[in-house]
Amino acid sequence: MKFGTKAVHAGVAPDPSTGAIMTPIFQTSTYVQEAPAKHKGYAYARGANPTRNTLQQSLAALENGKFAICFSSGMGATDAVIKLLNPGDEVITSNDLYGGSYRMFKRVFEKYGIKFHFTDLTHADNVKPLINNKTKLFWLETPTNPLMNIVDIKAFTDIAKKNNILVAVDNTFASPYLQNPLDLGADIVMHSVTKYLGGHSDVIMGALVLNDEKLYQELAFIQNSCGAVPGPQDSFLVLRGIKTLHLRMERHCINGRKVAEYLKKHPKVGKVYWPGFSDHPNHEIAKKQMRDFGGMLSFTLKDDSVEKANKLMVSVELFSLAESLGGVESLISHPASMTHASIPKEERIKSGLVDSLIRLSIGVEDHEDLIADLEQALGKV
Ligand SMILES: *Cc1c(COP(=O)(O)O)cnc(C)c1O
Repeated sequence: MKFGTKAVHAGVAPDPSTGAIMTPIFQTSTYVQEAPAKHKGYAYARGANPTRNTLQQSLAALENGKFAICFSSGMGATDAVIKLLNPGDEVITSNDLYGGSYRMFKRVFEKYGIKFHFTDLTHADNVKPLINNKTKLFWLETPTNPLMNIVDIKAFTDIAKKNNILVAVDNTFASPYLQNPLDLGADIVMHSVTKYLGGHSDVIMGALVLNDEKLYQELAFIQNSCGAVPGPQDSFLVLRGIKTLHLRMERHCINGRKVAEYLKKHPKVGKVYWPGFSDHPNHEIAKKQMRDFGGMLSFTLKDDSVEKANKLMVSVELFSLAESLGGVESLISHPASMTHASIPKEERIKSGLVDSLIRLSIGVEDHEDLIADLEQALGKV
């Protein structure tokens, strides 16, 4: 089955008791048993819920995986992966990482004796000197937030296999429509389902998708033991969102390209970060591992000042100034003062995250209107 057909149909079947074409919202905490421990696979809803199960089957199909587990947030999903590790284990990850992942690794898990190396992963060879017999996990994110760097997933899974290291990929920015890390040898895919999969800015959820049954059992055990499960109403909303994932992504990609090209030519704009440009440092890798380049991009102003960036962000009318991404509506944000404010200024600027850097999540509106809005706002700075 091709992607669009899977988005509409995979994992979903009419409800056997009524024929309802949409999976019902099974709003229940427990299930009546015929005799002690004799039930239909559902005992208590922390362990399993039919609405959630249907969503998990759909997500597994979209990522070409065998198993999916949905969590109450993207961070809940990431938390479960790190809990596979033991004190003394080491993780290698990117120095250009979702801020919440960095915070969890550093401030929650380091004190349990897990060591995290944050390094530049845009060249896979950079990782080799850091590998030792305690290295248990590569945590990759590509494209990265907000600088849209690209990590070569296949190069990392090749290195990992030789060294018995698990590879987890945060695939949030790409969505399963653009990139399928399991096909490139990754062991675990993580999604903030909150973003493109949900797609309508109305749900917080996370997911893991994988092929290995033993690893699946371990992660399901961690989830049931620790409790970060999503509710059936949210599962329903994401099931509904997924039915148009391919249509939304097509439009996000078209609009992303139009806006990126417009900004690149604008006299007040400095750099535009978007992996679809042929002069993006890892454009060839992006072309190899992604179906298209998505609707996320960042740019700077030639006049690099917080004041100018702020002026632009309060001058837009169609874009909303907000954190998050991947919804149908276009958003604008200022990483230096919002999502990445906790990084010391010197380090931030070294990595390219300057004061005027602005991040856009391009929605599915008409691109002419989005560009007209940016044009009038840039005219005011
Ligand atoms: C939002 C996000 C997360 C965290 O997901 P939540 O659903 O907000 O917990 C992780 N990684 C990336 C890349 C994200 O954008």
